[in-house]
Amino acid sequence: MNVPNKVDFAQEVRAERLSVLWKATLALAVFIVWGTLILASLSIGNLADVLLPLLAIVVGCIACRSLLLANRFSTAVWAYAVGLFVTLALLMYTPMSQDSHTIGRDMIPFAFPLLIFIVGLLLPFRSALFAMLISIVLTLVVPALGHEFGVSRVQIFAISIMMLAAGIAAQMSGELYGIAEWALANYRKERDVAYRLYDTQQEIQMSLLRQKALTEQVQETNRELDAARGAAMEAKNFRGQFLANMSHELRTPLNAIIGFSEAMLNYPMMYGNQELPPSYQQDLDQINTSGKHLLALINDILDLSKVDAGKLDLEIEQVDLEEVIHGVIATASGLKGDKPIKIRRDTPDALPLVRGDALRIRQIMLNLMSNAAKFTDEGTITIGVREQENNEVLFWIADTGIGIAPQDMDKIFEEFRQGTTGRRKGRAGSGLGLAISRQLLNLMGGRIWAESTLGKGSIFYFTLPVYTAEPAEPVEQGS
Ligand code: ADP
Repeated sequence: MNVPNKVDFAQEVRAERLSVLWKATLALAVFIVWGTLILASLSIGNLADVLLPLLAIVVGCIACRSLLLANRFSTAVWAYAVGLFVTLALLMYTPMSQDSHTIGRDMIPFAFPLLIFIVGLLLPFRSALFAMLISIVLTLVVPALGHEFGVSRVQIFAISIMMLAAGIAAQMSGELYGIAEWALANYRKERDVAYRLYDTQQEIQMSLLRQKALTEQVQETNRELDAARGAAMEAKNFRGQFLANMSHELRTPLNAIIGFSEAMLNYPMMYGNQELPPSYQQDLDQINTSGKHLLALINDILDLSKVDAGKLDLEIEQVDLEEVIHGVIATASGLKGDKPIKIRRDTPDALPLVRGDALRIRQIMLNLMSNAAKFTDEGTITIGVREQENNEVLFWIADTGIGIAPQDMDKIFEEFRQGTTGRRKGRAGSGLGLAISRQLLNLMGGRIWAESTLGKGSIFYFTLPVYTAEPAEPVEQGS
């Protein structure tokens, strides 16, 4: 949109005034002529004297109208003014009455100031000056053409008024310009504000539309996410159920294998006191060990599948840590075999009370201890406990073993994932121990993490809530 410039704006107003002016002038002229014709009994010669000036006015007004329509404002003003100048000149040239033949010369010049004033208001100052000059020339020259020589005092007086009219018109049009400019500045300001408001409104509307589109997109994505989550949950439950059934089916024959191989090895009286030949015994021992390994693996899988299916029941209670730690250290001593490893204990005299499932805490500690024993060839394995200020008990199991590569640190807590370093015979595993420990700790309101330096050793930390006398909150199982 365009803001009209100063000239356009002021000119528009003045053009409107001019169109009122020429209409009023024409009406007035017609009225005067009509009045003159009716009231004065004029001869044919006199009739021309009246009609000629009227014709000049009519021509001037019509020219003014056409020029206004053609948007040529200043020429229109001049057309109007010239019409009137000619009219006045004609009136000056042909005196109205035979008796008072100086009436034209003496009275008509007093009409010029009005014309100068009009021109001065409608056009810039120099036009008023020009109109004044024309008026003076006409005042002095036209009577001379009619053989009325000499300048009367009345004429000089009229010329003075003309100059005054030009001065006042200049002054007034200057002020009017000032006012118009001020009004225009305000008008511009308002227009600017309106445009800015309009732009802002457009922007708001655009962003509303954008927001609507985004909301729809988010809703669509949410729907897809819900569907995906549903499918994932279903798959997870199905996996959990499948593994639970599988493990259960496998455990029955496996228990038979372990039980019978043990009986064949250790209880010959069950077979009529017939000792097995040594070559059989070695293989049977292998069958028994492998069976136990397989059973441990299946138990781990079963635990995980129960967590997945949301069916792992925990007995959350106050746990006597002394008993648990003692048992774990005893088992770990057997796990390290004959490797030169010292097992140390870094616990306060009065062990803190924790809230959890004693069996599962023992399972977690044993997982960590057996890993430490598995991945340490010599040095120490330390088991530590300390109560922290945030109502948590911190446990750690530190070893001086092979350590864990930084890139493996996150994935070792995932199911069936193992580190990339130090794999060799005797360090085989399923990659389930840490995953189960993490799940169990989740269920008991704890956390697990590790720190390690490759080649120097690892520390596995986990936390459990301190036991307080308040009733235990029901455990919400998550994975
Ligand atoms: P795994 O049955 O393989 O031991 P875990 O889940 O218990 O399964 O451990 C995952 C992997 O984390 C291990 O295979 C090993 O690479 C790494 N890891 C765990 N504990 C230690 C440790 N104390 N020292 C070095 N590596 C460890």
